[in-house]
Amino acid sequence: MSKTSIGEDWCQSHLADQRLYQLLEKVDGDLVQEARDQGCRHCQGKLYRSDYARKPRGGPLWEVRFSLCCGREGCRRRNTPPSVRFLGRRVYAGLIVVLVSAMRHGLKPERVRRLRQALGIDRRTLERWRQWWLGRFVESAFWRDARARFLPPLAPPTMPLSLCLSFAVHERPRLVDLLRFLAPITTPSAWSALAG
Ligand SMILES: [Zn+2]
Repeated sequence: MSKTSIGEDWCQSHLADQRLYQLLEKVDGDLVQEARDQGCRHCQGKLYRSDYARKPRGGPLWEVRFSLCCGREGCRRRNTPPSVRFLGRRVYAGLIVVLVSAMRHGLKPERVRRLRQALGIDRRTLERWRQWWLGRFVESAFWRDARARFLPPLAPPTMPLSLCLSFAVHERPRLVDLLRFLAPITTPSAWSALAG
């Protein structure tokens, strides 16, 4: 199988890649630091670390989502930065939502079923993800702004497979790049416009 086409192998090797998980956690550490340096997005107040428990299903043993709280009296609001690990409120890790949704467009149904069952994802969940990529995601302001940078243009009907192939995610650093690209939509405030 060509490396630039869809492969169950690269999906599974990413899902078993502990170094990938460590790298993503480190990138999230950088993202929370960047957000902290910028100050509270409501009042510019000083931010303090205030992580919260979040254990994604289907692989990585992450336990907390990195987050911040404003220290200014009268604000004290939570500022949760973008993440390359958590995709909004999805209960599965972001890389699983991306990779397994992509597989659905590229592999025979029997192989998708095996992959899905190995990760404990029920059929309805995968169908919901599919509808989300083809609906809310491709119609979002985020994607309308971002899509122009892809040449040739990506075909919406095969999202997110077309996105994965464009980023060449069979290579670990390229998968991290794709998750970084998606990071702006992972904050609670951005996610509320994209949920579904
Ligand atoms: Zn504040």
